[in-house]
Amino acid sequence: MARLEFARPVFTSHGEFTSRGSVILALEDLEGRCGYGEAAPWPGFGTESEAQALAALEDVAELLAGADVEPGECPVVAASRLGNAPAARAALEGALWDLAARRAGRSLAAHLVESCVAPLARRDGVADRAALGEVPVSALLIERSPDALRREAASVRAAGYRAAKMKLGGGSLDEDCARARAAREGLGEGFRLRGDANGAWTESDARQALQSLAEFGFEYLEQPVAPGDEMALARLRRLGLVRIAADESVATGRDARRLVESGAVDVLVLKPAMLGGPARALEIANLARRSGCDVVFSHAFESAVGARHALHCAAAWADPVACHGLCTAGLFVNDIAEPVACRKGVAVVASSPGLGITL
Ligand SMILES: [Mg+2]
Repeated sequence: MARLEFARPVFTSHGEFTSRGSVILALEDLEGRCGYGEAAPWPGFGTESEAQALAALEDVAELLAGADVEPGECPVVAASRLGNAPAARAALEGALWDLAARRAGRSLAAHLVESCVAPLARRDGVADRAALGEVPVSALLIERSPDALRREAASVRAAGYRAAKMKLGGGSLDEDCARARAAREGLGEGFRLRGDANGAWTESDARQALQSLAEFGFEYLEQPVAPGDEMALARLRRLGLVRIAADESVATGRDARRLVESGAVDVLVLKPAMLGGPARALEIANLARRSGCDVVFSHAFESAVGARHALHCAAAWADPVACHGLCTAGLFVNDIAEPVACRKGVAVVASSPGLGITL
């Protein structure tokens, strides 16, 4: 169990956070290779608590000690014990996949392509794609005042990014419009600007916001209303003003299925750490593709271990145009390994075996 200190406090609708808890799972095989996974519950995603994740993993570790386990495959008995603990399950699945990739002598991304992505694509008659060595990422605009935001946006563009995201819904709609205008001015026409309201609006507020914000050319707007009402998302999408993305609404595979099957959203934001691990996240991504829904991978403030799992998922998904939310460099003052760094709008995926880090 680690406690990671944020370099700057993180504000969400659940309050202000100066640190976060994280449980790291290391699975070692007989040859001394180690695979790593992380359970990092985060408020608002409906997972188990940190203490529950730790207890669940201690329980499973006892069960697996000395057992004959096929790397990459989650033993049924362990999976059944983690049914109500998706964060712990992400740690176990992640560690098993990391170990499998290390044993195969290839990067986790390459291993996931071979084991998860390519079989699903072939079944759907989609051409195989190799894992990406560089994953396009979006920058996060954090400045509050329009003037500072305009300067920040211009520097993001100059730094080589092709997409940027700004938070919305923290103040009045007039403030949001002034900030969106400034961001657009700094980024220039055609640059992919995304908004994220983190569920701050009621449906009628959201409708008004979409009408006012449409002129700024958002690529999509994430989670305009709180999770739990996919019909509201569907109605907002049908306005045809701005494309709609779901993030907090995608807490489980079942949620994702409901969202894509009901046509409620244009984009799914997938966090492997919340969805039970890389294989499950990629399965959901495939489901989204079949319904014509775009996919963006992101972390939920995990350490270098969880963030790298999300990075390798995005690399394995290998959508050449999607920009993902993956950077964690500078997020913590005491990360447990090298965080995911982004330069010139991309995150480089190490070609060394597994996650490409050692603890
Ligand atoms: Mg979001």
